[in-house]
Amino acid sequence: MGIKAIKMGVGRRIGVLVSTAVVVAVVCVAGLLAGYQASQNAALKRSTIEGTAYVFASAVADHMEDRQIYEIQSVLRSVERVPGVISVSVYDSNRRQIATLGQRAVLKQREVSTDPGFWEMMRTASIPVSVNIIKAGQPVGTLVLVTDITDLRTRFFNTLSVVFAASLVAAALGFILSVPLQRAIANPIRKLTASMLRIKENREYDTDLAAESDDETGVMVDAFNSLISDIRFRDHSLQRLAYFDPLTGLPNRTNFQRTLQEKLEASGKEGKNLGVVLFNIDAFHTFNDALGHSIGDAVLMNVAAIVKEEANDAILVARVGGDEFAVIVEEDGTGKPTEHLIARVQSAFYKPVLILDVELHVTISAGATIMPRDSDSVGDAMRHIDLASNAAKKQGAGRAAFFTPDMDDVVKRETELSQALRTAISNNELEVHYQPLYHVSTGKVTGFEALLRWTHPVSGPIPPSIFIPIAERNGLINGIGEWVMEESCRQAKAWIDEGFEPRSVAVNVSPAQMLQSGFVRKVGQCLQRTGLSPDLLCIELTESLFLGRSLASVRSVLDEVRALGVALALDDFGTGYSSLAYLSQLPFDKLKIDQSFVNGAHTSARRREMLRSIIDMAHSLGMRVVAEGAEDEGEVALLKALRADEIQGFFLSRPQKPEHIASSIAKIEAGTIKASA
Ligand code: C2E
Ligand code: MG
Ligand code: MG
Repeated sequence: MGIKAIKMGVGRRIGVLVSTAVVVAVVCVAGLLAGYQASQNAALKRSTIEGTAYVFASAVADHMEDRQIYEIQSVLRSVERVPGVISVSVYDSNRRQIATLGQRAVLKQREVSTDPGFWEMMRTASIPVSVNIIKAGQPVGTLVLVTDITDLRTRFFNTLSVVFAASLVAAALGFILSVPLQRAIANPIRKLTASMLRIKENREYDTDLAAESDDETGVMVDAFNSLISDIRFRDHSLQRLAYFDPLTGLPNRTNFQRTLQEKLEASGKEGKNLGVVLFNIDAFHTFNDALGHSIGDAVLMNVAAIVKEEANDAILVARVGGDEFAVIVEEDGTGKPTEHLIARVQSAFYKPVLILDVELHVTISAGATIMPRDSDSVGDAMRHIDLASNAAKKQGAGRAAFFTPDMDDVVKRETELSQALRTAISNNELEVHYQPLYHVSTGKVTGFEALLRWTHPVSGPIPPSIFIPIAERNGLINGIGEWVMEESCRQAKAWIDEGFEPRSVAVNVSPAQMLQSGFVRKVGQCLQRTGLSPDLLCIELTESLFLGRSLASVRSVLDEVRALGVALALDDFGTGYSSLAYLSQLPFDKLKIDQSFVNGAHTSARRREMLRSIIDMAHSLGMRVVAEGAEDEGEVALLKALRADEIQGFFLSRPQKPEHIASSIAKIEAGTIKASA
């Protein structure tokens, strides 16, 4: 709402008021005095004239009886000579005029009988006096004498003119003298108004007004200052809440987007580029779930401090979501500056974060975009860093990815697949295949790994490396994982019931599935339902289990599983986060060496030595070693020579439908597949 234009200010009003009061006072006092004095003079004059009239009335009295007009006229002529007399008239007792002389010879009846008031005398500038003519104690007529009072009237009106002039002067003086008062009242009001307008328009709270006096206006200014300081405080608190994250003190998402918009506009003008990075703590929810929210908060604060420290040359570091931090960095358009920043931040997390004496392994994924190369709008940039960060997470923990246009399609595809996965079990689209595990020292197949297969009704077979992460991200892994567990245990038991010798089954379990409440109980119930002996079940877990969780929390679940009599295998060893300290403290029975270590190991001395040391290390920790991905005879031979306990690979058998497993086992155990030590 705008401010109304002021027609007459408070100051002017005070001036007018003071002047009016002065004029009224002067006019009242001086006017009354002048009027009073004039009426006194008129009364005095009137009584003098009355005296004169009586003298002549008695002179006339003797001539009234006989109506001696001539004598009466002569008396009247002598009256006329009295100074100031305008006219003189004589009336008989019937009020009939007998004789008259003077300028106003014919007098009105009113002038004869009534006593005119002050204003009438002033208006006519005359005083009429009427006295009875008494003869022998009886009234016989009336004598009316009219006297001029022009001098009296002139004096009266002169006095009134002086009073008027004096009142004008007094009004002007009053106005001038009231100027300091006008200022004293109007100035603070004017300043307050200006200050309020500044606050309204520019939110400038920082100038306190100075109280110029200690009267009511001073008190008003003080009250205003204290009000403004309250508002300032509240405004700052609101600003902080609106633009900063209370936990880490970093700018929040709104602040980030606003700053990005400003920088984008500025850099657009200067032809510069910007790098925008989204850092996301891997599996952050597990800190909260396993260690409680206060530890989760402590992790966030630590991560915020580390990102801020490492990205100290960035334009802005903000917390844009629960476990998300975003950074704006100056770019030369090549992506190198952004890449360096990401590398600095990620490598800062190589060492564990210490929180309340607990060492936590935190990794952080990064998704980045270059502006304006990839987009020139903040909305698009936010979407792009999200997509890039998801793409990075899909590669594993602690990875980074730059936005590419095909990421948009990937997201669409993931949404479609996750929808289709929801109904995959009920539509019988899932099945479990089994890959034999060859026991080196006995030459026997001692078990199988259960590997899930999904045949999409339209797209056909979709590899688990695609759909398992989608199931994990979309909360579908628990249902699917339980189905695989049930199906694998049922199948393993069925083979025994068919007369095959007991062989173990290894089931892959995702960290989210493993850490859901009731997991161990469900495994126990599954074993009971299917009748499979617990020692024939092995649960395979990947190193991502440790991500964002304390050693103690992981160990307590693993101990519970071991207590069921179920074996534990650490899968894909060497691909993710590995720590000897972890391995020595966790109850794994088996270590599964990832196929990337196995592939081509027989052709390179260096890789052979790496493989050897991993196997020896696992043995020294009391674990059996399974080597994955042996694809040719040379690899199998090397693994035997390095004393791996079990071998799994396409060279021996691909994962098979259950109905084909018997022939695979037969081939392997018959030694059809040759691999000499
Ligand atoms: P994994 O547990 O490491 O399983 C071994 C993977 O290596 C399987 O891939 C298997 O087909 C493949 N493989 C075996 N021998 C060879 C070889 O000689 N050469 C090559 N190139 N590959 C070989 P698959 O079946 O595609 O499974 C991929 C991953 O998906 C598995 O890796 C596992 O992490 C996951 N997965 C499979 N089924 C399940 C499941 O039921 N639950 C969970 N949570 N994850 C599963
Ligand atoms: Mg596995
Ligand atoms: Mg594996």
